[in-house]
Amino acid sequence: MQVTIDSGSGFCFGVTSAIQKAEEELKNGKLYCLGDIVHNGQEVERLAAMGLQTIDYNEFRCLHNVRVLLRAHGEPPATYEQAQKNGIEIVDASCPVVKRLQERIRETYLKHKNAQIVLFGKRGHAEVIGLQGQTDNTAVVIESIDELGKIDFNRDICLFSQTTKSVEQFHALKEAIVFREEVRMGKICFEWHDTICRNVAGRVEKIRMFALNNDVVVFVGGSKSSNARVLFTHCKEVNDRSFFIADEDCLTAQWIEDNITDTTRIGICGATSTPLWLMEKCKNKIEQLWNTKSRQ
Ligand code: SF4
Repeated sequence: MQVTIDSGSGFCFGVTSAIQKAEEELKNGKLYCLGDIVHNGQEVERLAAMGLQTIDYNEFRCLHNVRVLLRAHGEPPATYEQAQKNGIEIVDASCPVVKRLQERIRETYLKHKNAQIVLFGKRGHAEVIGLQGQTDNTAVVIESIDELGKIDFNRDICLFSQTTKSVEQFHALKEAIVFREEVRMGKICFEWHDTICRNVAGRVEKIRMFALNNDVVVFVGGSKSSNARVLFTHCKEVNDRSFFIADEDCLTAQWIEDNITDTTRIGICGATSTPLWLMEKCKNKIEQLWNTKSRQ
């Protein structure tokens, strides 16, 4: 029996920096965080124990003269305006990659006033809300190629992507627009920008390979994380013995009994929102349960 943690799983540098910033700033006193700092309940709880208080937008609007941390996903201009109005000090932990994307969208929006900004992303996702805000919420959000009908093909189009979307799906969408008659015949202009973050872009292929190379996969992820759901689906596709768990408490003696023998290779992996310490706890729990079983 062998347990391995996937070296490619875990926080990207944007999330790591945001958490480090929160830990640093907590030394200077009370700190609020607008939304969960990461889509992982255990990490949110760890930081809450250190004093980080998560608030929603309604609570944010009611606060005055406090410090509020903005997480890696970034925020729309309206959030900064509200903070200024309420005398709130912003601790900006927006990922620099997201910040740069926001600026590019803003510049494009201001330069091509008649063009339509199209965002390939998940509607309602915090990062997408921040990106839409750069266009005064006029950008059209497309979740998949099936939603091409939402685009107005009588106007020029500028296409961008949420940083965590699939590169293949983005290029398929781009090709579908390129092959539209309006674009081919030069009736409208189409410019596209592949703005997918390379920090996470290769993770699908790598996690599929990791899942293939293990007999049993234990995927550790938060229920609110869309990235976790997507990556787990890929694991399950290539390895039917893949299990989605929130934390080590989901691993029981019965689970060991049903799934593990002395030759099983177990792979532990997770999403970009899964902390390494949580995957390590799961590894320890499996080894501990296995040792108990072996002694019986
Ligand atoms: S995925 Fe990339 S862009 Fe998004 S927070 Fe992480 S490093 Fe930043």
